[in-house]
Amino acid sequence: MHSTSGRLLRPKQAAKTEVEKCAENENKTGSEKYTNRTVTISKNTEMWNEVFREHQNVSPHCNGILEWDLSMEEKWGSAWRECAKCTKCTYRSKMFNLYEEVAIGLHHTPISTASYRKICMASNIPPPSVSGMQHTANAISEKVEEENMRDLQRQREKIKRIKKIRGENPDVVNIQSDCVYNNAIYSGIGRTPFQPATQCAYTVAENETYKHSIINTLPKSKLCSKRKAYS
Ligand SMILES: [Zn+2]
Repeated sequence: MHSTSGRLLRPKQAAKTEVEKCAENENKTGSEKYTNRTVTISKNTEMWNEVFREHQNVSPHCNGILEWDLSMEEKWGSAWRECAKCTKCTYRSKMFNLYEEVAIGLHHTPISTASYRKICMASNIPPPSVSGMQHTANAISEKVEEENMRDLQRQREKIKRIKKIRGENPDVVNIQSDCVYNNAIYSGIGRTPFQPATQCAYTVAENETYKHSIINTLPKSKLCSKRKAYS
């Protein structure tokens, strides 16, 4: 091999980004230790009992402190995988899942993934990524929608049965309805005399019983998906 013309094709280490510098700094100062996590209590108990026992077996005379090894931490949405290390010896535990399998329950709340992230940050909990949360939401939203449609159908049938028992015409149901818009009505001043909403949800409730149960909903959206429009 020619010694003068040879050159190793190895990429140079890239300059560190601001995020990486911050992460390094966090490791040095240990500031990450003062943030919060949500873990399942029983999983946490199991982890530490196993860790204490194992550490004692591996290094019987070590009096080091066992702590979470945050450099190894893994985050899956709102779920955490952690491992422990000793501050004195080389002991490091395996990774433990500190969660039970759960789907994120934002479908049952009126808040968005962005709002949930704000709540997490205000609680000093590292928030899940938007893309991860959207992925979970996409996976279960169809099922939630199907179940809701079935439930509304059940409500309508129930009202019909009640009307039949009362001796009234089951095909005539008194209702009340209202619409909620995503944009405030004044936001379209000078541009449209109509409601300027790009999204709305129309809700229909029965006026036959004191419960006024919701018997149908109709969401409409004029927003287009970016992916469809630009690719
Ligand atoms: Zn130790």
